[in-house]
Amino acid sequence: MLTKDMAICIRAVDYSETSQIVTFFARDTGKLGAIAKGSKRPKSTFDGPIEILSHGQILFAGSNKDKLATLTEFQQRPTGLNLQKNLFALYCCYFAAELVDGLTDDYDPHPELFEGFIQLLQNANEQPGTRDDRRRMLSLLLLFQLSLLNDVGLKPILSHCANCRKRYETGGTRHEYYFSSSANGLICRDCEMSFADKIRLDKDVSDHLANLKQIPASTEEILVEIEKVMVRHLTVLLGRPPRMAKHITAS
Ligand SMILES: [Zn+2]
Repeated sequence: MLTKDMAICIRAVDYSETSQIVTFFARDTGKLGAIAKGSKRPKSTFDGPIEILSHGQILFAGSNKDKLATLTEFQQRPTGLNLQKNLFALYCCYFAAELVDGLTDDYDPHPELFEGFIQLLQNANEQPGTRDDRRRMLSLLLLFQLSLLNDVGLKPILSHCANCRKRYETGGTRHEYYFSSSANGLICRDCEMSFADKIRLDKDVSDHLANLKQIPASTEEILVEIEKVMVRHLTVLLGRPPRMAKHITAS
């Protein structure tokens, strides 16, 4: 039986001289691995080798958790991402692909997350080419990461202390917050002693995490600091440091 779906390629490895094994994140199917026979031949039915972030309609046979599907058709829409001009945006999208691959399960669909990913690719593509691009892309990546965690049931607790549930306070002398992966969120100063893995947050960072609406208008410096907290947390969730992280948080 053939299945039709819309999908984004999130991983591609060579299988032989002429074929690839590709991982797709598909809207109605979720993540799936497929063999693309002959994809590296000059006249392949897939318009040449399949690249990460390429997306479009796929047709595949054999949707089964235990074995690879066989890709029979892939109508690629050009990503249009300009490597030279927009390397940072490209890295952000690669990072998103790596996280979707690492944090979603095979054949577990997340249609809203799929749409969010498509939106991220489009936004990356439509960078106005100003000095503000990097900051804007970073804010989009952060919001995508948070929606990903939300969608896979790992939503961090950010509006109150993850331990005692006391509401986040923006001001006051007792303003001191931490992030702990083992608590899955913000920790107040009364509770921080119980969490060995906590890190202390700058006020700007905790304010933004507690009020995510501030992220799109934030400065690049603050966004980089928030992303560092996220990378640390994602390292725990993935069980290894995300490969793309160094390209994002390095200044
Ligand atoms: Zn607390």
